Amino acid sequence: MQNQWSAVNSGPLTGWGRYPVVAAKTVRPENWSAVDNYVKNANSDALIARGMGRSYGDASINDNGYTILLERFDRFISFDNNSGDLHLESGVTLDEIINVFALRGWFPAVVPGTKYVTVGGAIAADIHGKNHHRDGSFCNFVKAFTVIVASGERVLCSRQENSDLFWATVGGMGLTGIITDVHMTLKPIESVYVEKTEIKAKNLDAVMSLFDEHEKNYQYSVAWIDCLARGNDLGRSILMLGNSIAKGDERIKHLSNPLSLKEKRQIQVPIDSPDWLLNSFTMGTFNSLFYAKQMSNHHEGIADFESYFFPLDAIGSWNRLYGKRGFIQHQTVFPEETSREALKTLLTMSSENGWGSFLAVLKRFGPQDGWLSFPRPGYTLTLDIAVKDGLFEFLKELESVILNYGGRIYLAKDAFLSAEGFRKMYPRFNDWQKVKAKYDPKNTFSSHLSQRLEIR
Ligand SMILES: Cc1cc2nc3c(=O)[nH]c(=O)nc-3n(C[C@H](O)[C@H](O)[C@H](O)COP(=O)(O)OP(=O)(O)OC[C@H]3O[C@@H](n4cnc5c(N)ncnc54)[C@H](O)[C@@H]3O)c2cc1C
Repeated sequence: MQNQWSAVNSGPLTGWGRYPVVAAKTVRPENWSAVDNYVKNANSDALIARGMGRSYGDASINDNGYTILLERFDRFISFDNNSGDLHLESGVTLDEIINVFALRGWFPAVVPGTKYVTVGGAIAADIHGKNHHRDGSFCNFVKAFTVIVASGERVLCSRQENSDLFWATVGGMGLTGIITDVHMTLKPIESVYVEKTEIKAKNLDAVMSLFDEHEKNYQYSVAWIDCLARGNDLGRSILMLGNSIAKGDERIKHLSNPLSLKEKRQIQVPIDSPDWLLNSFTMGTFNSLFYAKQMSNHHEGIADFESYFFPLDAIGSWNRLYGKRGFIQHQTVFPEETSREALKTLLTMSSENGWGSFLAVLKRFGPQDGWLSFPRPGYTLTLDIAVKDGLFEFLKELESVILNYGGRIYLAKDAFLSAEGFRKMYPRFNDWQKVKAKYDPKNTFSSHLSQRLEIR
């Protein structure tokens, strides 16, 4: 067996949040037959796929077997310029898709806050973007994919064919097998520019009314929220709305090619931030300044896709800003009926106990159908929280509050959820588990996350 894993590296491995750190053995296969062999010879070793490692917590790490790095599988297979249908390997990143297809007038229909994710990772987490209320998640634009399941067999699945495996793999966090290639559809674009409108909201009630009022008229919507504000200011925010700009629009007429994205320079965070930088004073000051930066209550402008969709990609290794111990990104979604009260409770808990973050994000979701997909209709709140003493206890308390409001935590960002909490938050887990038992009876595909959540 050991010879089989010729290029094994051992060492500490983390997700993007740099917590938890596990001693992992990684392999980087060069071709698919090597992957086939790894799966066929896994015996009692647990395997998990890893794309760009942009999930925050422990979804793509494994201290109990091997983590299989898939970035080498980055080939485009075919493209239909009339329909936007793209067939590609699962290790292709959204960055690579954008680099090749934006100029031709095509773009991924759903993008997250970074373009450095693979298509395999995007399916396994069924990622969402700023347009979820209109378009749903990434997998709404995926027609079919092939999975290497535990027997070593390759199974092509879609909504029509082997649909049980399709729905268990969408949002299934790599636990049904390894996705090799994907048939997805890009959306046509006329420019790489967005007209954006930013509106200040004095508190949570105000921003929720603004979502109600404006959302239907915009493709994209998201609010930045000052999670350290209290009292009457609780939930004060800036709602950012956007629509794509058509090619003849006055505002981009001066451009020689409205589909051309300018090369952006990336600045790097060279060292881990010291802990003192992350106290509630510095974060409170940052949040207040961000809110005050926008002088008027209503601001309009244009932005290119790069700075609109991926502002954080301009800062390389920004995850070091949270210091050596790392951070977690905590994303929850609540049903429409409980959202208002739930968000007030969460924001109060985080501001009163000093667990706030530099940027908290509020967004509204529409319906979603993947069995373990995170989105559901309602509001979703994202908090970045530095790891420090007492965090585990705080998150335990938060988990029971979230459960009381019928909320759910996003697995692609999670590092702390309990096995019991997970089962309550994901009601279709039983259906999912039957498919897991059918295709992976020995639980070959397993990660630190699945072990923590007792998923097998
Ligand atoms: C700055 C930033 C912003 C983000 N914004 C958003 C956002 O707006 N919306 C959102 O939904 N998410 C967001 N994310 C999370 C990110 O989109 C997901 O975690 C995504 O899964 C990362 O893709 P990856 O290629 O890095 O996968 P990894 O992190 O390497 O893996 C994620 C999961 O996918 C599985 N996987 C990877 N490749 C395969 C494969 N070929 N076959 C089977 N399973 C596979 C892994 O086993 C793991 O369970 C953000 C992350 C960052 C760092």
